[in-house]
Amino acid sequence: MALAFPVPSDCSSTGIPVAEILRVSTEEQAADTRAGLDRQRAVNQRTIEVKGLYRALTIELRVSGTVAVHHPEMRRVLAMISEGTIRGIVCSDLDRLFRPDQPQGFAILQVFQDMDAKIYTGDSDYDLRTSSGLLQSSIRGAIAGFELSLIRERLQGAKEAKRRQGKCPTNAYTLPLGIGYDRSTDTWTYTPEIAKVKLLFDLFQQGTRNYSELGRRIGLSNAGVKFLLKNRLYTGWRVIDQKRGPKRTSVTGKLYRVKVARAPEDVIRNKVLDGIISEEAFEEVQREIALTKFNFIEANRSSPMVHLATGVLACGCCGQPMFLTSRSRTRATYIVCKANHYLHKKDLGGCRQPNLREDETEAALIKLVGEVLATPERLVQILEASARKTRELITPFSSAVAPSTQIEELKRRDARLVDAFAQGVLSVDELRSKREAIRRERDAFEQTLKPKPSPDHASLLLQARLVVKAALRFSTIGNRYQQKAILNELFSEIHVRHHEIISFKFRPSVMGGSDSADQVLLAQPVGIGKPPMIVPEGHRHCIKCLQVKSKSQFYRKLNRCNSCRKAADRENYQRRRTTTSAQKPLYE
Ligand SMILES: [Zn+2]
Ligand SMILES: [Zn+2]
Repeated sequence: MALAFPVPSDCSSTGIPVAEILRVSTEEQAADTRAGLDRQRAVNQRTIEVKGLYRALTIELRVSGTVAVHHPEMRRVLAMISEGTIRGIVCSDLDRLFRPDQPQGFAILQVFQDMDAKIYTGDSDYDLRTSSGLLQSSIRGAIAGFELSLIRERLQGAKEAKRRQGKCPTNAYTLPLGIGYDRSTDTWTYTPEIAKVKLLFDLFQQGTRNYSELGRRIGLSNAGVKFLLKNRLYTGWRVIDQKRGPKRTSVTGKLYRVKVARAPEDVIRNKVLDGIISEEAFEEVQREIALTKFNFIEANRSSPMVHLATGVLACGCCGQPMFLTSRSRTRATYIVCKANHYLHKKDLGGCRQPNLREDETEAALIKLVGEVLATPERLVQILEASARKTRELITPFSSAVAPSTQIEELKRRDARLVDAFAQGVLSVDELRSKREAIRRERDAFEQTLKPKPSPDHASLLLQARLVVKAALRFSTIGNRYQQKAILNELFSEIHVRHHEIISFKFRPSVMGGSDSADQVLLAQPVGIGKPPMIVPEGHRHCIKCLQVKSKSQFYRKLNRCNSCRKAADRENYQRRRTTTSAQKPLYE
């Protein structure tokens, strides 16, 4: 939270432009202490008057000193210093600017030194160009960091002592549902909501194991239910067996400390209340929770829900992976190109690849492994034919710019660098590192231009035998988990285009050597689903009666002919009539 104040009009625009920095941490915020905002403003005003400065802007931070440097407002100020728009900052004390708890916290001083900017505080100002100024500011910063760790230790020590006495050092909102704590008398109490928790334990003991169902009954989320059922405080015992560990950054960018287990001698146990559930019953609940979780995981592990195509299938039109649509009980599952998936279509712009039925695609995959790779001779034939073809054709996914033109461009860039060095724009070190980067890039391109040696027939046959062995295992085992594992062992990618498997890539480990990573084109693609029916011009194919009829027999783009549609409508009408007349009224 930061507020940028407009520049006061009474302030003269002469003098050295500086930024005023006010900072309070969340703890200091409420208290009227030395660090109070009004006091900081007063000190800064005096500094500005005495030193003849000009306040260009004011920022107000409400964060801890360890993270103040990373605050967006603070970064803006540092950027202004780098640009030269302002020539220093004013703060009441150096600890308002930073309290480094790590050595890299001092890096902020570098910006000031580079730009010859000064730090003005109430009692002294620091010119970082001079060695004494640098030393002073570093020492002052280190002391500020040390003070912080002292404050922290004192605070944590007091909290820990309270915990050991069975008191609660934290705010009421850290307590679980139905439990309250009076800080003036240091007593634990139950709040009226404890009735909900009692009901929850009762329901669970009566056999309701579904967390969502339990949550609906008492008005909580399913995760909330789980945590309540596991909280030992409801037996009356307050057990603290965890503490905050190392710092971590969450996915949303927030800094937090993970919870880690305490050492056995540090675990705190206190009887603070008469429990609402006996300890034996609580242990029974814990056993049931563990069993439910175990059963759930086991059930998932043995379920036949294995999708052979995911992870290995890729689109032959655009190169994106193929995704699965969500499973539904009534409709078939489809495999779609990522570029057509509803989450990515907007970004990737869609693809011409039609959606494929999962069952048909899996049948085609099994056919590919079971028939096409069935004999070593057949596989070698495919590999050699593919190698001939790739030499003649450009591979489907080669980069848009030919490597030779990119090498030319790199040569030109190299020449420009040397020119820049000759004119004194670049230093020797910069020139060396930049030329090194260009040289590496050029090597990589030249590698792709070199013709690859084609492996001889005998070694291909040897490797093919290994692949065929694995493929044979694939068609004999019935376990889909193992089938998927074999598929993943053999292939890194299998490409589909429209309704055909057109090519694949073996995993580098499968065929040995580097050329195994090449794409293998299938001379005869493996079809997915039924081959498309060829119908004469002006005719269409009805998916119900399977007849080829003229287009006038179809209503717009519907895929059933008019007579099939009418028959279905009649049937539906009859069924509705019989069911509604047979149905009993809902309420009597
Ligand atoms: Zn695609
Ligand atoms: Zn029909």
